[in-house]
Amino acid sequence: SEAILRATGLRKEYGSTLALRGADLTVRTGEVVAIMGPSGSGKSTLLHCLAGVITPDQGEVRLDGVPLAGLNDRARSRLRRSSFGFVFQFGQLVPELPAIENIALPLLLAGSKRREAMSVARAWFPRLGLDGLEHRLPGQMSGGQSQRVAVARALAAGPRVVFADEPTGALDSLAGEQVMDLLIDAARTQGATVVLVTHEARVAAHADRTVIVRDGRVTAPVEA
Ligand code: ADP
Ligand code: ADP
Repeated sequence: SEAILRATGLRKEYGSTLALRGADLTVRTGEVVAIMGPSGSGKSTLLHCLAGVITPDQGEVRLDGVPLAGLNDRARSRLRRSSFGFVFQFGQLVPELPAIENIALPLLLAGSKRREAMSVARAWFPRLGLDGLEHRLPGQMSGGQSQRVAVARALAAGPRVVFADEPTGALDSLAGEQVMDLLIDAARTQGATVVLVTHEARVAAHADRTVIVRDGRVTAPVEA
């Protein structure tokens, strides 16, 4: 299938730290790719470049062949909202909002009517194994439960690509497996592409393909 994301020659410097030094990665539509590698090797920076959150100093990222750098900030942030979903290690839910409203939020931002957004959000709960917890605040749920809500929130508006940075990093292994099963199953059902950073081989085992980042470069197979 076709490349949805293609990063070539990415270089990114933070002061005297060279986080990326010529990183290349191609992700095909519908693929689940895990990015592994030592701490500080540039994994998060690569993920953020792919998602258009940060702009590389050199090199480019193309989405469907279109360079992200060709878009202005506003177009890029609209693209992120309409086409991308994000799951982080923890803390991305709005603490003041009940679980159901956290899931509804991206739909509301995308222009859905409140009634429709809430109905779509409600329909996630059986699948999350969280029936009856619709009105819990994030702080009233376990880490695994709130991370499942975070996965639903990332996928609710039908993103084309889900970026996950250590999505199981704060969880025990059982809760981590539940989050990964949910993420991969929901993404495959929706035809979404997944790019995830993890240091756990067990988590990477859910991917179609694993690449390794070392010293700011992608060193393992860039093609399956
Ligand atoms: P990884 O995700 O593999 O741990 P990162 O991409 O987070 O690696 O970081 C790569 C290198 O860049 C590290 O040395 C890190 O300390 C540095 N770095 C990342 N982000 C910043 C930043 N915003 N400011 C300064 N240095 C940074
Ligand atoms: P990870 O665990 O994914 O490598 P970190 O916890 O190192 O991420 O970094 C969290 C955030 O802080 C990221 O947005 C990263 O860009 C930023 N960051 C990482 N290293 C540094 C640094 N040395 N100085 C400033 N910001 C940094």
